[in-house]
Amino acid sequence: MSHLRSLSAIILPAFCTLLIAPTPPSSAPQSMLGFTAAASRQEAKVEQKFRAIPSPAEERRQHRIFTAEPHIAGSPRNNELARYIAAQWKKQGLEDVRIRRYDVYSTEPRSTSLELVSPVHYVAGLREQPYAADPDTSNKAVSSAWLGMSISGEVTAPLVYAHSGNPEDYDYLRKQGISVRGKIVLVRYSNPYSYRGFKALTAEREGAAAVLIYSDPAEDGYKKGKVFPDGPWGPESHIQRGAITYDFIVPGDPLTPGWASIPGAKHIAVKDARSLPKIMALPLSWHDAKPLLEHIGGPTAPKDWQGGLPFAYHLGGKDAQVHLKIDMDNSIKPYYVVEARIRGAQLPDQWVVMGNHRDAWVFGGVDPSSGTASMMELTRALGQMLRQGIRPKRTLVICSWDGEEVGLTGSTEWGEQFQDELRKKAVAYINVDSSTSGPNFEGSAVASLAPLLREVSHTFQDPATGQPLYEAWKASVERARKELKENGPVTDANLVDTRIGSGSDHTVFLNHVGMPVIGLDFDGPYGVYHSMYDDFYWINHFGDPGYRYHTLMSQLWGVIALRLANADLLPFDFGEYGDNIGQFVDELAKGKNMSQLDLAPLRSAVGNFSAAGRKLDLAERQALAAGNLSPALEQQVNESAMQLERNWLNPQGIPGRPWFKHMLYGARYTYAHLELPALTEAVEKGDWTTARAQAELLRQALEKNTRLLQEVTKELQDSQSQGRGN
Ligand SMILES: [Zn+2]
Repeated sequence: MSHLRSLSAIILPAFCTLLIAPTPPSSAPQSMLGFTAAASRQEAKVEQKFRAIPSPAEERRQHRIFTAEPHIAGSPRNNELARYIAAQWKKQGLEDVRIRRYDVYSTEPRSTSLELVSPVHYVAGLREQPYAADPDTSNKAVSSAWLGMSISGEVTAPLVYAHSGNPEDYDYLRKQGISVRGKIVLVRYSNPYSYRGFKALTAEREGAAAVLIYSDPAEDGYKKGKVFPDGPWGPESHIQRGAITYDFIVPGDPLTPGWASIPGAKHIAVKDARSLPKIMALPLSWHDAKPLLEHIGGPTAPKDWQGGLPFAYHLGGKDAQVHLKIDMDNSIKPYYVVEARIRGAQLPDQWVVMGNHRDAWVFGGVDPSSGTASMMELTRALGQMLRQGIRPKRTLVICSWDGEEVGLTGSTEWGEQFQDELRKKAVAYINVDSSTSGPNFEGSAVASLAPLLREVSHTFQDPATGQPLYEAWKASVERARKELKENGPVTDANLVDTRIGSGSDHTVFLNHVGMPVIGLDFDGPYGVYHSMYDDFYWINHFGDPGYRYHTLMSQLWGVIALRLANADLLPFDFGEYGDNIGQFVDELAKGKNMSQLDLAPLRSAVGNFSAAGRKLDLAERQALAAGNLSPALEQQVNESAMQLERNWLNPQGIPGRPWFKHMLYGARYTYAHLELPALTEAVEKGDWTTARAQAELLRQALEKNTRLLQEVTKELQDSQSQGRGN
């Protein structure tokens, strides 16, 4: 149900009230998706109380605690923060607080060094420069340059510049007669974003001895605007750390693919782990990359390979020799997930799950401690509500993940450990990684939950402009699409980002467990990602100086969770879901040689599913308007809705990547979104046998879910024609 449709006809008296006494945008709408009129009024009161609790001062206080020291996964400080969160949650009044331990293959540098040995000698500092304006930048615990899951080794070899390090870049080099086999490749972090693990895998496949990934000022430095500490962009020596784990093949602990690494679990051998790279890798600031690029020699690089440094970039290949030495401690270590609940008053076995990762590459000003601060204010508010005797209908489960930065590790292990229970009980997962790097709202959701996200956005105000968050969101999506030169208006049909790739903790829940997911963040100019400068100072000067967006995130996150937890009928919209799947099929149909694949049966199944979704939607709205649903029928409708999401799973998974089981959503190796993943990959390869088989599997899932929708619709209609819920 869309917001506009829900306002139009059903709750007419409430709509009239709105005309007589316009309500400010911060109050609840007159009719809520999934609620009866009476329950809507009750929910509005609950939300009003909840929204009054989070405060900017508390957000800032929590943010300072989390950003005071570097807290990488596996470090004593990060483990101390796990205990801190557990203690806070107990104090706040949350229930069933516990810390879960996973023994995982971790990663840490012992030492790294890099020097240019010819034609000139240059020893890379591999360090970020301190600034007096920001005392945190002098912290002795800050690491030097390193990439998680690099292998150890030592090599002296010629240097080649390979642009973004994507396969087509190596094709170009080959055409120029330049091989990278046994050499060291220098590539840049690129825009649009391509996960650094994909750059590492590509270099490994090309036979390179090592890959150096540097931050070009054209991407996130002075070419974009003022740099730290005067602006939000990356200064000369900023280093984008990160992991290169091949978690696009299977995320989580590389030695327990598909099962939880609880103490005593079976571990596979390192040599058999498909997500472990077999290449040395190191990140560089442009300060350290500059001498390498200046002396690399060889032919001039093409125009679109040029960057923001003030000289012509060359391809290299023989003139410049580089000596690289990396010594890693990649061994098994404990990671800790903190878990808490607020047990549901009426439906304790239906769970709304929420999470944020705790581990940071350095201080984690934005990534992830902005989100951690928002989570701590969310839980304080929920705890206070509980003390006032306000308990949600369903159970809220809240988790602080560990090792997200290494390979989505903590959430994956937890999701694998509880997958059977989650498939029975979970309503949805709401992820907040970084909560705030600026004022631009970004909301993503599987399409069945897009209407809920839109509806809630109407009830908040953008702190900077005072306009409804919905309008501010629309305006920022419009600006972003204009920048990407994507035309067409932003409407309700395309406002929510329903293209969900990987790269954060929602992955296990969506792609492995089959839970619908929502992701929330506020975005802005941000050039210090995974560097030391992503810290408390950065947030207080650029990202969110008044912590207003942090506060808004706590409120928004909580209200969405409360809607899901308190709704009479879970607010899924399967008509909109079907339309979105239809778009995925339309996009697939634009591929090459599509005459090989008859999409007609699939299209007709999608059409039937959409139609059945719209009918259920109408029946639900009528039943809610009548307000006479029996608890038993509510339960049946809600359990069917939860089952429907699970039915998108193919137990066999995507060919070659069996851990990824969702038929609608997947991710490319770059982390980019990939719709209808198994089918799309088969089409792209021209493997028509697999494509036909996958299209048939998808058609069957659509049929199964259409029948499910029709059954519940009939039950609802029967109950209404009898004049009462039974
Ligand atoms: Zn993060």
